[in-house]
Amino acid sequence: MRIDIISVVPELLESPLSHSIVGRAIKKGIVEIHVHNPRKYGKGPHQQVDDYSYGGDAGMVMMCEPLYKMITELTEQRHYDEIIYMSPDGETLSQGIANELSLMENIILLCGHYKGIDQRIREHMVTREISVGDYVLSGGEIPAAIVADAVVRLIPGAITDETSALSDCFQDGMLSAPIYTRPAEFNGWKVPEVLLCGNPKLIQKWQDEQIIERTKTLRPDLLKD
Ligand code: SAH
Repeated sequence: MRIDIISVVPELLESPLSHSIVGRAIKKGIVEIHVHNPRKYGKGPHQQVDDYSYGGDAGMVMMCEPLYKMITELTEQRHYDEIIYMSPDGETLSQGIANELSLMENIILLCGHYKGIDQRIREHMVTREISVGDYVLSGGEIPAAIVADAVVRLIPGAITDETSALSDCFQDGMLSAPIYTRPAEFNGWKVPEVLLCGNPKLIQKWQDEQIIERTKTLRPDLLKD
């Protein structure tokens, strides 16, 4: 899979993309992630990428031309399954969307900044808009890093023990069971007895019950449909 991220603050993406599961997946060649700065297509000696908003609203708007040229440079080289604008008014990211994106070949994640991007890019070039939740961040970089992380960890080979991704929260629309590691007792706090019994069937039954119980209590909305 290949992910191209368009950002005027590429520095914000360096650390999240170079460590842990995403960093290792890139090193292993499971995914390619390229960051592009549309400033190279900016206007004038200062390579300006933003301008005042029509209508006089406070805040600068990212101009059409640098984004148009940046996106076109990429789409001329390969076909993209989706050109995704990170936006607080997009569809809210979910495990389902992450699963869907993880099956794609090439995607673009477009990060806005300032007041956002000119609406015409959204209308004519963007194919999908994704939000990371109902709150406003300063730029699309952290949301893009969240999408990249959620997606990359689902690509076969990114996580050494693949069943681990399958037993994560939301993977089957439920929360996951509580987890423990050694020692069996710490500070007087005990690991549930059943996990020490060595009987996989009993353990599975307990985990299944926990999954239902925790989902009912913490996220009853997940059980609605
Ligand atoms: N004026 C916009 C907010 C702009 S915030 C509005 O009211 O909707 C600047 C940029 O940060 C946006 O262009 C977007 O790319 C990104 N961003 C902010 N919050 C986000 C969120 N919850 N999800 C995804 N992207 C977000």
